[in-house]
Amino acid sequence: MKHVYDMIVIGGGPAGYTAALYATRAGLDTLVLEKMSAGGQMTQTMQIDNYPGFDEGIDGFLLGEKMQAGAERFGAKSEMVEVYSAVLDAPVKEIETSEGTFFARTVVIATGAEHRHLGIANEEKFVGKGVGYCAACDGMFYRGKTVAIVGGGNSAAADAFVLSRICKKVILVHRRDTLRATKIYHDPLHKAENIEFRWNSTISGLNGEGRLNGVTLRDVNTGEESELEVDGLFVSIGRSPATALFDGQLTLDDNGYIVADESTRTNLDGVFAVGDVRTKALRQVITAAADGAVAAHYAEEYLVMNK
Ligand SMILES: Cc1cc2nc3c(=O)[nH]c(=O)nc-3n(C[C@H](O)[C@H](O)[C@H](O)COP(=O)(O)OP(=O)(O)OC[C@H]3O[C@@H](n4cnc5c(N)ncnc54)[C@H](O)[C@@H]3O)c2cc1C
Repeated sequence: MKHVYDMIVIGGGPAGYTAALYATRAGLDTLVLEKMSAGGQMTQTMQIDNYPGFDEGIDGFLLGEKMQAGAERFGAKSEMVEVYSAVLDAPVKEIETSEGTFFARTVVIATGAEHRHLGIANEEKFVGKGVGYCAACDGMFYRGKTVAIVGGGNSAAADAFVLSRICKKVILVHRRDTLRATKIYHDPLHKAENIEFRWNSTISGLNGEGRLNGVTLRDVNTGEESELEVDGLFVSIGRSPATALFDGQLTLDDNGYIVADESTRTNLDGVFAVGDVRTKALRQVITAAADGAVAAHYAEEYLVMNK
């Protein structure tokens, strides 16, 4: 006989484990499917300062383990498996994984999103040692320092503002000769005294020994290279949500995020999207966790109404 869970959560980051915590506390039989380790993107940082309750900040990996333990305390189960496909448009949903098929009456999708990487040498080596992808998360580590930011869209422009309030100097590197960001950003960015621009340029090298201390710029027109001394580099060239699995079943926006409002409901009954994977303004631990709580609430309501 196949076991049908009340809820399967795909993804064991802060959104997923918060959904599991709220669901199990409400008495739902809940399984979390995670392909790597609990915590999701949080595991990539040693210091999270803006999740309330930790007055000295907390290591992201540890916070992930605590979130898993918190949900398991109330009976949530975890399987370390990769989800390959899902059939979501039936009352009992089928989730195909590396370790077989699991069944549930509701599914919470918490597969997150990844910052796009530059894909150049040394990038992985310098992550957290001078290379960052989230100004709101890591900007504080560069107080009074000089940083570069690469990108030209709205998030790069917004990140440049965030960093200009914290850093001594911000150098925005963009491969075109004007920003792609909406016009509203242009004037204030150009007027900011501590923001400089390097137009028609890409980053071709990341320099330093244990830590980044500079970048190599390449002029896209001439191919000429030059060195720039910086204490940090923020890469703000977009994000990719992990939604390829669900394309064709769930409504995605132009950037591939699952369309869901604050209720976290998707276009399919009994299927919820939480955290970085859904359309939303701010992608952070606290907003991911908040979504998880909301999804569990609506999943519980759905299960009561569809007994
Ligand atoms: C370096 C770094 C530093 C950050 N610092 C901060 C900070 O200081 N403060 C802050 O608030 N936010 C910070 N963030 C952002 C924050 O970590 C994210 O907003 C948050 O983790 C999103 O949570 P999530 O649960 O939606 O998704 P994620 O954390 O992305 O978790 C998704 C999980 O789903 C799993 N998954 C994906 N696909 C599958 C599949 N097919 N099968 C099984 N499992 C799957 C992944 O392995 C992952 O564990 C930081 C992010 C990074 C990368």
